[in-house]
Amino acid sequence: MKRAIATVSLSGVLADKLEAVAAAGFDGIELFDNDLVASPLTPREVAARCADLGLTIDLFQPVRDVEGVPPERFDAVLHRFRTKLAVVRDLGAPVVLACSHVGADAVDDLDLTAAQLHALGDLAADEGVTIAFEALAWGRHIDRVGQAWDAVRRADHPAVTLAVDTFHILSRGDDGSALAGIPGDRIGFLQVADAPLMDMDVLEWSRHFRCFPGEGTLDVAGVVAATLAAGYAGPLSLEVFSDVVREADPRTTARDALRSLVFLEDQVGVAGQPPAPASVDPAFIEVAGSPAVPPLLESLGFSRAGTHRSKPVSWWRHGDAHVVVNDGPSPSPGPAVGVVAAPVSAVAARAKALLWPEVDRTRGSGEAHLPGITSPSGLHVFVSAPPGDDDDWQRDFTPSAAAAPGLTGIDHVVVAVPPDRLNEEVSFLRTLFALAPGTVEEFMEPHGRLRSRAFRPSSGDLRIVLNVEEVGSGRASTGITQVAFGCADVRSQVRALRAAGVPLLAVPDNYYVDLDARFGLSPVLLADLREHGLFYDRVGDGELLHAFTAPLATGFHVELLERRGGYDGYGSASTHVRLAAQRRH
Ligand code: MG
Repeated sequence: MKRAIATVSLSGVLADKLEAVAAAGFDGIELFDNDLVASPLTPREVAARCADLGLTIDLFQPVRDVEGVPPERFDAVLHRFRTKLAVVRDLGAPVVLACSHVGADAVDDLDLTAAQLHALGDLAADEGVTIAFEALAWGRHIDRVGQAWDAVRRADHPAVTLAVDTFHILSRGDDGSALAGIPGDRIGFLQVADAPLMDMDVLEWSRHFRCFPGEGTLDVAGVVAATLAAGYAGPLSLEVFSDVVREADPRTTARDALRSLVFLEDQVGVAGQPPAPASVDPAFIEVAGSPAVPPLLESLGFSRAGTHRSKPVSWWRHGDAHVVVNDGPSPSPGPAVGVVAAPVSAVAARAKALLWPEVDRTRGSGEAHLPGITSPSGLHVFVSAPPGDDDDWQRDFTPSAAAAPGLTGIDHVVVAVPPDRLNEEVSFLRTLFALAPGTVEEFMEPHGRLRSRAFRPSSGDLRIVLNVEEVGSGRASTGITQVAFGCADVRSQVRALRAAGVPLLAVPDNYYVDLDARFGLSPVLLADLREHGLFYDRVGDGELLHAFTAPLATGFHVELLERRGGYDGYGSASTHVRLAAQRRH
């Protein structure tokens, strides 16, 4: 399928945009009229530049307010449209996008709209161009795709077709079923955009918060699938405006945009790239070696379990929780995470198809293929095969001790992401590993606020939580800020940490009074929580008991948690207390 992007989806001037789009590997563009008007290049020069870059101009957009116009003012519309058609001809664009009238004086008369679209269709046909008519979600009288189709049908002109824009359809509460019965050859163009679910003015929502498919929560794939099922065979084109995109480097945006189309093609089954892994599990945490690391790990109950066959890397474990310490010359910039996702070669090939950059690591002969991939925020993720397989990371180590019982494994990993990288980071987790996002949670911090979103695969135990800290300048941390280990009895783990002299987060007594007020806990349990400095939550029959180490200077800390009775969350009701306690440290 042909892949295109609207120039409005990128920052910069037109020449920069075209180069970024071509470099990312797109086939074509939608040319945004404002980009052309502001450019010193003539339409013919733009067409030539695109041709040199291997890009086609698939759409010129938009012409506004061309239907539902009071008849005495329609001559001016015809003049405007003719003038733009001459530009479209010089550009060599086959389709021009016309959007529904938003003006307060728009006439609510479908027959008038149809007649005016028909007249415009005559002009377009003379130039060999097709009109794609779009219902803007904030159109004055035509704001649903069904109404736009009604107008196109009544216009009854071969050069007048329907434009499908996933945002406009989904933001009005319609879905792919709104396209039922529309023949594919009457759909003139398909524009795709996603958005996070928000309750706000739809125009503001569209202008500032659109995002690429896979970054938001709209059922973009459903509308695209319905459009393809109708028989539409034109380009799949991204049209995204947002505050983030306005400020980002166009080359970064173009790459991210292309990934989102690959992801979308996957979802609707038109792709050729390797599929996402069927399941994803946590394997290990990798940290850079320093003299402080071994004593720290020992105080946390870890012991040395093996030595790498060819590299200055050691393997530490505590029960089923694994930490790899890299004493090599080029460790990852912060803690890295290892995951089990098979087949490893397919995950690596998929990362490549999605343009996610590889971590540069040497590999000794006979060693596991452990590809590393860098996320947009700089997190390194290493991919291993399941235990026992040739590409199992543990096979690269000579074991030095038998495993003693202890922690049950890595429960979750918290990654702090700068606000302007959040969409990309979400895209990384969704497109590469098919992790599904949970709802966005927001917490008050003593000096700002924290937005948090948990990601999980449909199968497997990997849990990654993305945090965006919005605090005063220079205070937010980045990378892995927390590793949470699961255990069967958090109280015994806390006692062991205390015995080893590990400072734990101090919990204010008021918290326990509040817990009692909320849950009516038994005096025995309440005393136990107080004594061990534990946080607590309960949902249905499920309970969470958890504790945190005091944060290091970097903000990094460890959580120990005991999930009882199928508790599935992260104890978010206590998060504000924990954040305040961490600030005190
Ligand atoms: Mg549109």
